[in-house]
Amino acid sequence: MTEAPTPDDAARPAPYPLPDPATIGEEHHDVTGGWLRPAVFGASDGLVSNFALIMGMAGGTSDPTPVIVAGVAGLAAGAFSMAVGEYTSVASQAELARAEVSRERRQILRDDAQEQAELASMFVAKGVDEDVAREVAEQIHSDPDNAVRVHAREEFGIDVTDLPSPMLAAVSSFLSFALGALIPLLPLMLGITSLGPTVAASLVALFGTGALVTALTDRPWWFGGLRQLVLGSAAAALTFGIGGLVGGITD
Ligand SMILES: [Zn+2]
Repeated sequence: MTEAPTPDDAARPAPYPLPDPATIGEEHHDVTGGWLRPAVFGASDGLVSNFALIMGMAGGTSDPTPVIVAGVAGLAAGAFSMAVGEYTSVASQAELARAEVSRERRQILRDDAQEQAELASMFVAKGVDEDVAREVAEQIHSDPDNAVRVHAREEFGIDVTDLPSPMLAAVSSFLSFALGALIPLLPLMLGITSLGPTVAASLVALFGTGALVTALTDRPWWFGGLRQLVLGSAAAALTFGIGGLVGGITD
């Protein structure tokens, strides 16, 4: 049976073409696991920790050699510690995710109908009519691998094709910490024995990393820069004081 086109039908525009799924969400910041955030935080960690360490040593001794040795050791130790911590954390998260995904796969292979109904009920909860939800679930379940992917995403928010790499996380946190830690150390390594350039470079970098972090949020950049400048220099000043106390005792 064909109906005569109504004026309404004639006015209705053609359906909007479906966009490429890979392009959806591109205009948003990566709020889950972008590389920029951890890189900036790693660099900021290295900067604050090594700036404070160098100032603490400089507070306790006027000999530049132990200050430089401590700065180099602090860079290496901190970078290795960050890499190990990051590797373990990301690896165990990925192992947990894989275990949950294989549990889901076993359930789907054991009782496909029940898992289909479960998926359909999740679509109903999102506002889809039950008959449409059941049909979508059935189509998704026609390929078991696809069914596992969709269940993992819907039930525990995991993209099985895009688990983070522990090695990449380790290497990038090593490099970013080392880069931050190098800033207060570099003037000393270049043979400048006065603390002025170390302090100046560190203060500029503190402001820069703080501003960069807030560039990803809706706080003003100068607020983030000043906050990091105040907190980082307080850490360095306190450590300088502690170094002076200990240096005074052992002299
Ligand atoms: Zn399921």
